[in-house]
Amino acid sequence: MRAGLEAKLGIPVSYLNDGNAGALWGHFHIFGASTVATSISAIIGTGLGGGVIVDGRVVTGRKGFGGELGHVLIPYQSIPGIEGMKPVCNCGREGDLEALCSLTAIDKTLLPYFLQRYPDHELAKAGPGAAKKVRGMAERGDPMCREIFRVQANALGLFFDEMVNTFDPDALIVGGGAIETSPEFQEWFIGQIRAGMPVQRVEQADIPIRVMPNGDTAGARGAAIEALKLARARAKAA
Ligand SMILES: [Zn+2]
Repeated sequence: MRAGLEAKLGIPVSYLNDGNAGALWGHFHIFGASTVATSISAIIGTGLGGGVIVDGRVVTGRKGFGGELGHVLIPYQSIPGIEGMKPVCNCGREGDLEALCSLTAIDKTLLPYFLQRYPDHELAKAGPGAAKKVRGMAERGDPMCREIFRVQANALGLFFDEMVNTFDPDALIVGGGAIETSPEFQEWFIGQIRAGMPVQRVEQADIPIRVMPNGDTAGARGAAIEALKLARARAKAA
């Protein structure tokens, strides 16, 4: 597809999936065009996208499936307060990151689970679309909705811990609709991510967790950076 479009347009064409493109923007926003920094981005939307940037380059992998962070399994059973929960992802895995940390996870797993504990909660009668109301209610302090976001943040903490031990990154970045909220809620959410991480070794305990800037436009911005890199590389080679 890329080669075909390139032939039609007569200019270099690059391709990144939306998660990887967003990750590249988050990385660039913090580190600029540095070619030595490494970052991991998790973007919580309908699913869980994201990307791994090593030494300034997006890890796309052999067939473009690099950075499919949502389908990485996490030891979710260690998250407090979710005894008996069976989080199953659309991909068929039980207990991957997306199965806990996505809007789909709220809809399919977290909300039904917590409504058993809060049967009189107003979302019990909200029907389809209830999942979309959870974030706003969590932000306003609703205890059940806060619990749902606490579980998501703890899940992300377990995942980030795996990434810390795999990459020893310069930054962990979290973005997406889930965290397009007030700074107060973002701060609380990041605190809950940290609370979900196993004890870190001293050398890594200060790895920052940052919020992805520019919301929905992060992917478009990252794609533009990737295109610019390609155009420069081609110009240099010519
Ligand atoms: Zn999955």
